[in-house]
Amino acid sequence: MNPSGEQTENYPIRAEMRQVCVARPDDGSDARHVLSHLAALRCLEGMTQHNAPTKVVVLGGGYSGTVAANRLRLAPTDIDITLVNPRPHFVERIRLHQFAAGNYDAAVDYGTMLGEGVRLVVDTAERIDAAARTVHLASGATLNYDYLIYAVGSTGAVPASVPGAGEYAYPIAEFEHAQRLRATLDELHPDAPVTVVGAGLTGIETASELAEQGRRVTLVCGGQLAPSLSEPGRRSIAKWMRRHGVTVMENDVVTEVRPDAVVFADGAVRPSAVTVWTAGFGVPDLAAHSGLHTDALGRLLTDDTLTSIDDDRIVAAGDAAAPPGEPPRMSCQAASQIGPQAAQTVLSRIAGTMPAEFDYGFVGSCVSLGRRAGTIQLARKDDTPVNYYIGGRVAAWLKEAICKGTVWGIRREGRKPGTAFWYKGGKRASQPAAEVVTQS
Ligand SMILES: Cc1cc2nc3c(=O)[nH]c(=O)nc-3n(C[C@H](O)[C@H](O)[C@H](O)COP(=O)(O)OP(=O)(O)OC[C@H]3O[C@@H](n4cnc5c(N)ncnc54)[C@H](O)[C@@H]3O)c2cc1C
Repeated sequence: MNPSGEQTENYPIRAEMRQVCVARPDDGSDARHVLSHLAALRCLEGMTQHNAPTKVVVLGGGYSGTVAANRLRLAPTDIDITLVNPRPHFVERIRLHQFAAGNYDAAVDYGTMLGEGVRLVVDTAERIDAAARTVHLASGATLNYDYLIYAVGSTGAVPASVPGAGEYAYPIAEFEHAQRLRATLDELHPDAPVTVVGAGLTGIETASELAEQGRRVTLVCGGQLAPSLSEPGRRSIAKWMRRHGVTVMENDVVTEVRPDAVVFADGAVRPSAVTVWTAGFGVPDLAAHSGLHTDALGRLLTDDTLTSIDDDRIVAAGDAAAPPGEPPRMSCQAASQIGPQAAQTVLSRIAGTMPAEFDYGFVGSCVSLGRRAGTIQLARKDDTPVNYYIGGRVAAWLKEAICKGTVWGIRREGRKPGTAFWYKGGKRASQPAAEVVTQS
């Protein structure tokens, strides 16, 4: 039992810091003097006044949340780190198109990823009570926190405005979506027509994965193929699609999904045994549902230190964060850089020091085209593409190395907190936050 009467588990405590923080009058030293060496106001609060570890709860065990949880182990004071995630395994979301196509198992054992002492709670946060500093979980349990990292990621957004999309289209943004799609594809005749709606990077990766397996794939772009890439990058992808028999419908828009067909804006109907919907991403509504300020999409509004504009005990990371100005592109690339910085903000607040403004930079977009090719679109740090890309097998190899590297990086942060890094993108514009949508 801890001093507040709660059941505690055996977390490895940093013995040396506990000695520093707890007063030891018998050796004649002045406890306050010892504590002042730490320059850690919260250490005084946390250890001397309450004599309890600082509780940090991380919501969401994806790329940003898992690395943040591992980074928190840098805390020089006694800390309880709890990671809440709905599944007992980490999901390599950037491989979900592979998982759906049946050539990769995207689930990774958290046991191999989390640092010692990080507690995993398999549950879903249903409401954050910021005033009471508690999180209500779907199981009915509640978790108390001193600091909360909000890292619940993003999800696919199948539009209600497209009749039949909600019933018949298959999103691929989450593990369970990909699982459902995989099961359907397993039962599908190899010649059956498959439609992929959305020609952003996820749509391209999904279409190419299925086409490489010999499936009859139509990719509906609704405007442009790979709009975020440079012209040469786009051409390389169009060429691959042509060579692999993918029908690319660039300007066409799907307006209805039927169980066995898609309907276009001009009324044309094309057979489609399976329709995969990759156009658009949304975010969980947890922040809005909890009365916190979000942007129009539902991302938690923060300041430049990733701290919620409502409450400095809540810090956001990854796809679910909306810092001032244009939020970073929803990506593993940004989430992996923002996660450790969210943890640093919490660590600064625990220490009573000013958190740093967060920073990040892009190097490009890495698109797999099946297992044997890819397009690595190089970009400036602000994510604008340059007219140069790496293609073919080299790109496939690089993409594979990057995918492996993301998991490796999280594991390394678990073993050696402080090793995860981020790029310096230069000073970010401190514009006011994006449109504020107050939800209650
Ligand atoms: C098929 C596909 C391919 C992609 N390829 C790339 C790529 O090549 N490069 C790239 O940079 N990005 C890519 N992305 C995007 C990338 O996966 C995301 O941007 C990234 O996962 C965001 O990381 P995150 O930590 O913010 O969220 P996530 O990785 O989504 O993790 C969020 C976690 O929070 C959990 N969660 C949600 N709600 C709750 C709740 N209420 N309580 C507790 N936990 C909750 C979720 O279940 C999840 O485990 C791809 C995405 C998809 C779908």
